[in-house]
Amino acid sequence: MTYRIAVIAGDGIGPEVIAEGIKAIEALTTLQEKGIQFEFVHLPWGCEYYLREGRMMPEDGMDVLREFDAIYLGAVGYPGVPDHVSLWDLLLIIRKQFDQYINLRPIRLLNGAPTVLKEGTVDNIQMTFIRENTEGEYAGAGEWLYRGQPQEVALQTGVFSRHGTERVMRYAFELARREKKTLTSISKGNALQYSMVFWDELFEEIAKDYPDVTTYSYLVDAAAMHMINDPGRFEIVVTSNLFGDIMTDIGAAIAGGMGLAAGANINPERAFPSMFEPVHGSAPDIAGQGKANPLAAIWSASQMLDHFDLTDEGAVLIQAIEHLLVEGEVLTPDLGGDGSTSEVGNRIAQLIQTIQ
Ligand code: ATP
Ligand code: MG
Repeated sequence: MTYRIAVIAGDGIGPEVIAEGIKAIEALTTLQEKGIQFEFVHLPWGCEYYLREGRMMPEDGMDVLREFDAIYLGAVGYPGVPDHVSLWDLLLIIRKQFDQYINLRPIRLLNGAPTVLKEGTVDNIQMTFIRENTEGEYAGAGEWLYRGQPQEVALQTGVFSRHGTERVMRYAFELARREKKTLTSISKGNALQYSMVFWDELFEEIAKDYPDVTTYSYLVDAAAMHMINDPGRFEIVVTSNLFGDIMTDIGAAIAGGMGLAAGANINPERAFPSMFEPVHGSAPDIAGQGKANPLAAIWSASQMLDHFDLTDEGAVLIQAIEHLLVEGEVLTPDLGGDGSTSEVGNRIAQLIQTIQ
């Protein structure tokens, strides 16, 4: 069995961290024993491509991607190319057209990882955030009224379809059931009287199908506070596109920082390829210097293995990351070390070989 992976390493530190994620997967000898191969096909798309061709990917780019089992993405965006171009013309098109309606972000404070939190609040930070990834507040609906005139008004509409909301919630309930975890919904029904009232109604309705799952419902402001004061109360969390965006950045801060934040954009039906990417951007300030932390990209590679039901191998990658953090000898500067991106990747590959 061969999994074919489209690699869009992208811009800035993207290629630097993605190389180490590939190294980690290639270090998994158990895959070879199972007769499983990964074929990585590099697609040189992104901002350099844009500056040459006037677009982020070729015209038939989506048709090319469709043929792959998954997409492994570094980061796109670079000074000189407007952010909305690099974002919309590649990342958001892929998320939308491939109906990757689940944004899955593990927020786990591994042993040895730094946190901004006080001692005593950090035990048991073990969450999985499920963020709605195709509609909600980021649906792109709205309009300008009286644009350019003194009375101008900007309207931005959140779009919450029953179909779109229900499917993300059902995915969350299924995960909570499978992992025997609690499920928390984060919303704002007291202030957003259409979208979030609907969200809360649907959450209650679907919960009836999952009597075995313990549920909680929080207002987003209260949830933000609890993320800092008592993050141990959250296990599986489901929330909207905007709230998920913000809450998972809080999550990144309490669980190791940007260098450790991983994310997956998933089409659960597997009708289209899913996409795995570190949460961070191209970080032009440190690009080309070998300073980028590859652990987020390696963690995303672990999510890709999970997606292919190679959960043992996915877990080995996480164990290797944790081992490296505890050992504390080879770390990039963001984690207080003086190791380079590839030194960290090489040490991870060694650890994988000893762990598996
Ligand atoms: P975006 O425009 O998508 O936000 P960005 O290029 O501004 O992307 P961020 O991911 O927002 O980058 O990161 C902000 C800063 O955090 C970077 O400029 C860099 O200094 C640091 N940073 C981000 N990722 C890493 C990493 N993997 N290793 C080390 N430092 C990082
Ligand atoms: Mg930024």
